[in-house]
Amino acid sequence: MDAKAELRAAREQLVRYGGRLVADGLAVGAAGNLSVRVGDLIAITPSGIGYDELTTADICVVTLAGDEVEAAETPSSELPMHLAVYAATGAGAVVHTHSAEVVALSATCAELPAVHYAITSLGGPVRVANYVRFGSAGLADAAVAALVGRQAAILQNHGAICCGPTLPAAYDRAVLLEWLARVYRLARSHGEPRILSQAELDEVAAEARRRRYGLRRGQ
Ligand code: 13P
Ligand code: ZN
Repeated sequence: MDAKAELRAAREQLVRYGGRLVADGLAVGAAGNLSVRVGDLIAITPSGIGYDELTTADICVVTLAGDEVEAAETPSSELPMHLAVYAATGAGAVVHTHSAEVVALSATCAELPAVHYAITSLGGPVRVANYVRFGSAGLADAAVAALVGRQAAILQNHGAICCGPTLPAAYDRAVLLEWLARVYRLARSHGEPRILSQAELDEVAAEARRRRYGLRRGQ
């Protein structure tokens, strides 16, 4: 696929996953934002436009430095956070949500502990970054610091940020994170949950690698 076709595909994917964000309950209205890296360019959702009216023409294309290449609308206010994640990691896509279970947890806990072994898909227990105003360079810094060694971080009184090699992979992590936050809340309603140890998480990660879990035979 040439660069132009790749960008077109990224625009379509962003519109599709924006629709999913609302349908899956990970954000409401225009909240949250999504981006995909295409070579040295970033395609990102626009600021403040509801996903129900989003079209491929609304998707903004910027450089890794944030300069607008094609932008009929204003790029997401969280562009600095997305760019900081691309600069700090090898991510191919970034998903920022305002999902309810995660936001509720962010207001009360310092981290999401390992209540289920699937948390290994996020790199381990998920840190909660201290509150900093939306759209700020400080939030970008806090998010990157909380993401070290992880593919997900929680933003206090705000939401979550997840990354991955592709948009479907980053998005699946956002769904998993919300599920884990819900499981943790349910577990706490029964009493004090047992939390998996680092040794138990390491064992799961090693077994998943050995089995090539989640990969098709041809991959
Ligand atoms: P944008 O509409 O500017 O992307 O902002 C939504 C948001 O989630 C801010 O943190
Ligand atoms: Zn937000």
